[in-house]
Amino acid sequence: MSMEAPAALYVKIHAAMSSCDIIRGMSASRSAHSSQAHAFQTDDPRLSPIHAKVMAGERLTADDALALYRTGDILAVGWMANFVRERMHGDKTYFNVNRHINPTNVCVAACRLCAFGRKKDTPGAYTMALEEAFETAASGYTEAVTEFHIVGGLHPDLPFQYFLDLCSGLKQRFPQVHLKAFTMVEVAYLSKRAKLSIRETLVQLKASGVDSLPGGGAEIFADRVRHIICDHKIDGGEWLETAKMAHQIGLKSNATMLYGHVENDEDRVDHLLKLRALQDETGGFQTFIPLAFHPENTALQHLPKTTGMLDMKQIAISRLVLDNFPHIKSYWQMVTAKMAQISLRFGADDMDGTVIEEKIYHDAGATTPQGMRREELERLIRAAGREPIERDTLYRPVTRTETSVTVAV
Ligand code: SF4
Repeated sequence: MSMEAPAALYVKIHAAMSSCDIIRGMSASRSAHSSQAHAFQTDDPRLSPIHAKVMAGERLTADDALALYRTGDILAVGWMANFVRERMHGDKTYFNVNRHINPTNVCVAACRLCAFGRKKDTPGAYTMALEEAFETAASGYTEAVTEFHIVGGLHPDLPFQYFLDLCSGLKQRFPQVHLKAFTMVEVAYLSKRAKLSIRETLVQLKASGVDSLPGGGAEIFADRVRHIICDHKIDGGEWLETAKMAHQIGLKSNATMLYGHVENDEDRVDHLLKLRALQDETGGFQTFIPLAFHPENTALQHLPKTTGMLDMKQIAISRLVLDNFPHIKSYWQMVTAKMAQISLRFGADDMDGTVIEEKIYHDAGATTPQGMRREELERLIRAAGREPIERDTLYRPVTRTETSVTVAV
């Protein structure tokens, strides 16, 4: 790994980003939108210098990020995030057609934030036999599905080979489908079970068919918070180290942050800045996904749900602080489709997918539908004045006709 100074790497990443297709559309869309943009206004004097930095494309500091969390002027924060979003993507709004597969909910950890994991042999615990997992993948499968999103519990008995066979079996049966599989937490656990280094574990998963990693398990990196919400998980440093290794062997990943529980503004800022620093180093993150905490059926169910204000603010601040992340996703399953739609004007450029069978957040009380039809997703995006673009996991546009599916490379 290069030891270049972060600032130099930041410049390099921006230079590299400017050559990719997504960013190429930025300058064209910038002029199209700047003429339409209404003037920035705020009655909060803390936001004026931040606005100047945003307009100049300068990086925001921890103090700037804290000021954004602490202001009540949500529209000013949204204005700035929307400006950056349109500078990067114009009206383009991405979605994909994916299927979630959760092979087991048996888990040795007992995270207080979780409504999904079960101890072995307790009511509701399940583990799919491999054939069952393949059947789940196939049920309701159509040529339209471009991604399997695979995450599950930390099972104490399933051998590493089960997961290798799961991936190679899926690849064999669905060779055109991208496997986005196993959070950093699962990878670290599998490496312990298999007595392999994290790197070797990732290499073997990649060889079995894993194409990229999802961003889950990051929660909040601060130790104080982790001790309360997920004491048995790897710590924040280990999560980042695992992500770094995945990027080093050529696996892209996403990153998440679970907000709206016992964390404070400083913890959120710390989390974002740690992700930004790693992205400076590796450039391996594709998308940041802020996840609103759903307390129902968890050990923290006395906590209130997140508010709409916080949901919008979190999307907008993510866009403003994570200047080196290409995409910010508003996960409609967690914040509702209506809020996700509004977030397309607060910094988000991705609405996730026409998810089929989501379990984890629905066990935690999410009342959103299990999936959404593609036409409905496109309708919501268009109604927000945006242009829906179906993508594959790597953000390559997908073109469909009655009889074929083509991914631009
Ligand atoms: S959050 Fe993940 S690691 Fe924690 S208990 Fe739930 S399934 Fe297990």
